[in-house]
Amino acid sequence: MTDTQAPRVLGTFLEAIRIDSPAGEEARFAAWCADRLRAVGCSVRIDETGPASGSDSGNLIAELPGALPGTVVVLCAHMDTVQPGRGITPVVEGGIVRSSGDTVLGADDKAGIAAILEALQRVAEQGIETAPVRVLLTTGEELGLQGAKAISPDDCTGDVCLVLDAHEPVGGIVGAAPTQYTFDAVFTGVPAHAGVEPEKGRSALIMAAKAVCGMRLGRLDDATTSNVGEIRGGGATNIITASCTMRGECRSLDPAMAEAVREEMDAEMQAAAREGGGSVEVRWSKEYEGFRYAADDPRILLVADACRDIGVVPHVFETGGGSDANVLTAKGLPSIVLSCGMTDVHSCGESIAVADLTALSDLLVAVLRRAASK
Ligand SMILES: [Zn+2]
Repeated sequence: MTDTQAPRVLGTFLEAIRIDSPAGEEARFAAWCADRLRAVGCSVRIDETGPASGSDSGNLIAELPGALPGTVVVLCAHMDTVQPGRGITPVVEGGIVRSSGDTVLGADDKAGIAAILEALQRVAEQGIETAPVRVLLTTGEELGLQGAKAISPDDCTGDVCLVLDAHEPVGGIVGAAPTQYTFDAVFTGVPAHAGVEPEKGRSALIMAAKAVCGMRLGRLDDATTSNVGEIRGGGATNIITASCTMRGECRSLDPAMAEAVREEMDAEMQAAAREGGGSVEVRWSKEYEGFRYAADDPRILLVADACRDIGVVPHVFETGGGSDANVLTAKGLPSIVLSCGMTDVHSCGESIAVADLTALSDLLVAVLRRAASK
């Protein structure tokens, strides 16, 4: 592909990923996005959530004042990227964009941002009449949806929010996402010399191990998973371990099932501690609420029809992953996640096809056309 044939959205994308924005350090990239959005006629502000979400920037909130009534669409993507994500050097070859191999690419989630900018640029240039369009670019998504969690519900307004943050080729529509719980547990036993008087000891490490062995882990059913991700404890071979920490999670597309598995995992930890002659303190957090849309939900149909407008077959699927969409939906802004075409995210092999960047931009324009009622 020569430069003259390269679509503009590719240039925007390459510019975006060259601006470092690891989670917590989004300010410089937010300023770049703000300039681009103002240039196409948006009002833009950065909210006050920076300190609360551990970032040098707040979320970016923008609005394009549309002249027509209709469905108010919010276009959402996150500004932060995972590590290693500094000094990204993109390589474009055979219609695919990759990093030079020692960093992520940052298509997660700058593919979404490039497509939003391209779509609004086209709306401005072509004089496409739309209903008001809002843009929400969040911080700290990769740190646990921090920006979205901190955002004021007053800034979560609109009829439907399209979160541009899923893998799979453009046309994918995430119609359901899980409820997730995480836990931090501390097992406490009694220390003793392991060679001299082990009888006096109560091993916190054994309690944790028995708890793990008693839990159902992995994929529990079509909709439910659970995992223990970390165990730490002990420091010497000759000491019965007095303290051991453990972290894990469970999630399910069925909120009642997520709660049932949470209770089950908790009970295993309590029983293992009791049987081991110690105690355990478990702190559970509900990380986010799940959501599920009916196949004929008008918001799903809006996106599916727009897919057909651009010659793409829509594909509604369920995900086991959480995103800003979970948090925003719980705050009252119904949100759907759309596929952007990025592959192998969170790895140095991350890539995206130029065709997907273009298709995603086309899709957003098609959605905005359909959302406007004359
Ligand atoms: Zn992402």
